Order: sequence, then structure tokens, then C-alpha cells
Amino acid sequence: MKINAAVVFETSGDFRIEELELSEPNDDEVLVRVVASGICHTDLAGRAGHLPIPPPPSVFGHEGSGIVEKVGARVTKVNPGDHVVLAWDYCGTCSPCKQGKVLYCLNFFKHNFHGARPDGSITIHKGDQPIHGSFFSQSSFANYALANERNVVRVQDDIPLEILAPMGCGVMTGAGAVMNSFQPRPGASIAVFGVGNVGMSAILAAVVCGCTTIIAVDVHTARLEMARELGATHTVNAGEVNPVDAILELTGGGAEFSLECVGNPRVLRQAVDVLPRLGVCGLTGVVPPFTEVSLNMDLIMNGRTVKGILGGDAIPDLFIPKLIELYKQGRFPFDRLITFYQFDQINQAVKDMEAGRVIKPVLRM
Ligand SMILES: [Zn+2]
Ligand SMILES: [Zn+2]
Repeated sequence: MKINAAVVFETSGDFRIEELELSEPNDDEVLVRVVASGICHTDLAGRAGHLPIPPPPSVFGHEGSGIVEKVGARVTKVNPGDHVVLAWDYCGTCSPCKQGKVLYCLNFFKHNFHGARPDGSITIHKGDQPIHGSFFSQSSFANYALANERNVVRVQDDIPLEILAPMGCGVMTGAGAVMNSFQPRPGASIAVFGVGNVGMSAILAAVVCGCTTIIAVDVHTARLEMARELGATHTVNAGEVNPVDAILELTGGGAEFSLECVGNPRVLRQAVDVLPRLGVCGLTGVVPPFTEVSLNMDLIMNGRTVKGILGGDAIPDLFIPKLIELYKQGRFPFDRLITFYQFDQINQAVKDMEAGRVIKPVLRM
């Protein structure tokens, strides 16, 4: 079928909206009419050639939401007309998958970064020219996307689909880091380093969990103000003061939980240095491969934990509906993070995001 998609034809090149041909769904696949797609830093990392993916031309996008248009013969999870959010794909058969830790799938790259289906077949063409698609088993910068049944999350149809787009990556990552990985007791203290979309989602989740000291750390004043509106009890401008000293003082000895959402070794060091004994530091910020960090071993040996967290340790099928229910009850206003753009404004949306003018750009298809 004919689709309109934003194609990157050269590394770091602009997005160009083109008419392309999308394959029919295989037996285990779902064709989704995309209503909206969030833009995430991983899309831009892909465009810049920083991911282990095939070279352009490529269609990115991995925060899609939409309506099921057509299902393959063996699909039982959803039916045409169902509202869905698209998340990451996984194999379902490796050891982490069998343990329910699907976002740590050993075959992650094959299912998300191949530029094609796991069997190598390419789903998008421009005339005879193959275009790399299947990005996170969706390539949602398009008006239609082909997903596997596994990474399609069915959601209630009484919530606007366009706000649900970022649920499948950024929001799930930040909220899940707190609600699934940390599971803080009411009254706990937490410091969030970097309050972009992931960090803001973590702040919202910390409020849900009953944390009573919630410290947002960033260098953008506007973001810190918004973090306070969303529930941060304190803000620290790391461009003005030493955040470690400030947090140790604010908490009287350390934040029980800290979350690194920047992807910077210096910030990770700070996030570890603010922990008291038995504190846990979570790492969600994406860094280039082989990035190293130096830490105080003696500090860590005294019961501190440094933990890498992918996708908020979530099982998307279970976790995303829970977040939506919290939203409906007014307890998780993640839609405040969103700025909408029309699909053909994609390059402007990316510019605004890179300049820090918006937290979560979402394209309306
Ligand atoms: Zn993402
Ligand atoms: Zn797996």
C-alpha cells in the first residue's frame, strides 16, 4: 500500500516526506494507521549514525500511537479498530524474555535495529529502492506503520490517541525507572538529574509513589520551573551551584534514589555521590558505546547500588495501561510535557527539541 513517511536519505540529513510503498502484514503483524508519533533522542541518534543500524535511506520513529487497520492471519491480540500504542519489540523466547524482562531481550538489535524484519525482509520501498524501516518494529514517522503483534499495546479508546504516542518509550522509561525499578516507599527522597521528557516522567512517578523530597536538577531554568509545577519539591540549577553539595544539604545526608537522565559520565558521578548508604542510583541516559566513568569504589561498597535501567524495567502490555489509568484519575498529567506539531513540521520540531525549547514534540499525522 502507499504511505507517506519522513525519510532520511543521508546521515544527519533533513527528514523528507515521501510517498512510499509499505508491505502487507505478515501472519504475526499488525498494520496501524498512525495518529501521532513522539520524537525521541534515539531517532536523532539513528539519523546521526550513532546507532548500530544499517545506513540510510531510513524511516525512523518509535513512539507511535494509532488505530489498527489490518491484522495478519495469526494475530489474536488486537482487531481492526482497536486503539494501540507501539512500544519496543523483543523475541519472546530468550532468557530475559522468558523472565518477563522483555526490554532486555538478547535479540533486541535484530528486532529493533535491523532496518528490516527479524528475517531480513525489507517492508518499505520507494519504487525499486529498498528503504530501511522496521525501526523499533514500527518506523512510525509515517501515516501507516507495520508492527509485530508483540510490540502493539492495546489501550482504552476513551483517551485521545495523540497524547499517548510517547507512552511507548520516553514516558514508560522515566516513570518505570521510579515505579518498577526503585519502588520507593512513601516519604522517600529522590533526585532526578536532567528533566527532559524522561526526567519529568520520573518526577510525576515519584509524586504517584508518595516521595516527599523530589529534587529536580537541570541547567534550564524553564524546565526547573515546570518540574516544580509537576511536583518537584526542590530544584537545583547545576549551572549555578554544585548539585552534589546542594542535594546533600537539602536531604541532610543524601537522596535515597537518584536517576541519571542525561547520558553524561560527570552527571552519573554526581548522581552516585549524592546517595546515602543503601541508596540506589539508576542510569537511563543514553551514551555512545564504550563510554567510561570513574566512581568512588569505597563509597559504593558501603551498600550503594548503581543500576542500568532500560525502558523503565516495564512490561509494556501491563505498564502502559496502568499509566493511562493514573492519567485518567488526574494523578499522572504527562500530557503537560507535549508540544504538538503537524507531520510536515518534523524538521522544525527536531530543531526545537535540540534547542531545549520543547520537552516532548509529538507529530500529528
Ligand atoms: Zn525512545
Ligand atoms: Zn528475547
